[in-house]
Amino acid sequence: MSDQRLNFIGGEWTESQTGETFETTDPANPEEVIATYPQSDAADTERAIEAAAEASDEWAATPGPERGRVLTKTGSLLDRRKDDLTELLVREEGKTRSEAGGEVQRAIDIFHYYGSKASDLGGTVKSSSARDTNLYTKTEPLGVAGLITPWNYPIAIPAWKIAPALAAGNAVVIKPASLAPGVVHEIADALAEAGLPDGVLNVVTGPGSEVGATIAGHEDVDAVSFTGSTAVGNTVYDTATEDGKRVQLEMGGKNPTLVGASADAEEAADIVADGAFGVTGQACTACSRAIVHEEVYDEFVDAVVDRAAAIEPDHGIDDPDMGPHVSESELESTLEYVEIAEDEGATLEYGGSTLDREGYFVEPAVFSDVDSEMTLAQEEVFGPVLAVIPVSDFDEGVRVANDVDFGLSAGVVTDDHTEANRFVEEIEAGVVKINEKTTGLELHVPFGGMKDSSSETYREQGDAGLDFYTISKTVYDN
Ligand code: NAP
Repeated sequence: MSDQRLNFIGGEWTESQTGETFETTDPANPEEVIATYPQSDAADTERAIEAAAEASDEWAATPGPERGRVLTKTGSLLDRRKDDLTELLVREEGKTRSEAGGEVQRAIDIFHYYGSKASDLGGTVKSSSARDTNLYTKTEPLGVAGLITPWNYPIAIPAWKIAPALAAGNAVVIKPASLAPGVVHEIADALAEAGLPDGVLNVVTGPGSEVGATIAGHEDVDAVSFTGSTAVGNTVYDTATEDGKRVQLEMGGKNPTLVGASADAEEAADIVADGAFGVTGQACTACSRAIVHEEVYDEFVDAVVDRAAAIEPDHGIDDPDMGPHVSESELESTLEYVEIAEDEGATLEYGGSTLDREGYFVEPAVFSDVDSEMTLAQEEVFGPVLAVIPVSDFDEGVRVANDVDFGLSAGVVTDDHTEANRFVEEIEAGVVKINEKTTGLELHVPFGGMKDSSSETYREQGDAGLDFYTISKTVYDN
């Protein structure tokens, strides 16, 4: 199935001037090469940025409904290729077929959503206090948007950046994550077929420290939208803001679910296990801390261990309960956190070992007796490892939930409506879920975090997703 892929610059599929390439492999069967990509450098990236800068004025001047039609048609083309996209995503990134299919569907829906939004952009007329003045705001694109995306949602996250950027009239340069870039090529291909003019979307693959850093620092890039780890996000922010670029950052999480005294332990275990072990725990919104009232603690631990033990990881293509980690280094990192947690005195109730087979598989792990100070309760693991932390009342639960540097998604499981309302008020998180898992987002409402999870200034998705890619002028026309 291995294929040779190229950069997409100025409407042409082109090789890197370095002549070098890198491979992606199947995380469930690492011997199998999936595709080969250009190992691009700064010069390739600069060419892509120049192509975008050249194309941006004409695209900005293209009427919104016309831009919208291109996006809508792209959604339909992706829909027609859904099975192939799903398989490519499974083979490069390792999700199960259902998870990958859901993600591809989300990307399709995003293109349709922003396709319909493109006609609504332009501004608003206001009533002026002077009789002879027409007062209105006029919305304009920023120019060139540089997008840097992670491997864990390799099609949905690029889609939720590309679609609003193009809908608003910007040209784009995107650098997909090196572990799973293939589905972004498929988006580029569909956009070209849908009639996107040459140069309006450009794709460059290669190392983040070279391609990503060039995007972040280039003077012709007007805005940078980054999703990935907090460490890299902070570097991108420092580089991009040096010359005053607009920057959007979506980064890590250490997402809690607070299980109140009134909760049904079995129901809470379903919600927590779903949020913790879905997509192999490799979601920025994954539940990695269950903060559980002592009255239901023992029952909850037993129930969540049952859920973990019932999971049988396997190759995503057969649509098992859980797929592998994306790479050897991600697997090693998870195993290291399991070791640290044991060393620091947490009790390993279940899992945490690799499977006796090919691929980067690990059993989902549940730790009890976790203290909020422990490394496992503080750092993002990005694997299927759940820390269960006992608390003696609701106030302590909220305190523990907030006692981390991150603030992305947070859940509460309770039958007590007052508790639920207080949680919404007091939790430091950009997404709050009541009696729901911390993962899972709707595309038409804003998404973003607080504290080290996000830059906080701009949200993604929904109407908020368009704000980042536009600037408004206020016009007084007498
Ligand atoms: P990452 O290592 O930070 O990489 C993200 C992107 O940045 C990749 O395209 C990477 O390229 C690139 N990059 C690496 N070094 C760079 C540099 N010096 N300058 C510019 N770009 C650079 O993150 P990841 O491992 O792909 O993704 C996992 C992380 O993303 C987790 O922390 C997760 O929580 C976070 N995430 C957050 C959200 C959210 O919305 N908040 C959503 C999904 C994931 P290479 O691939 O070539 O290294």
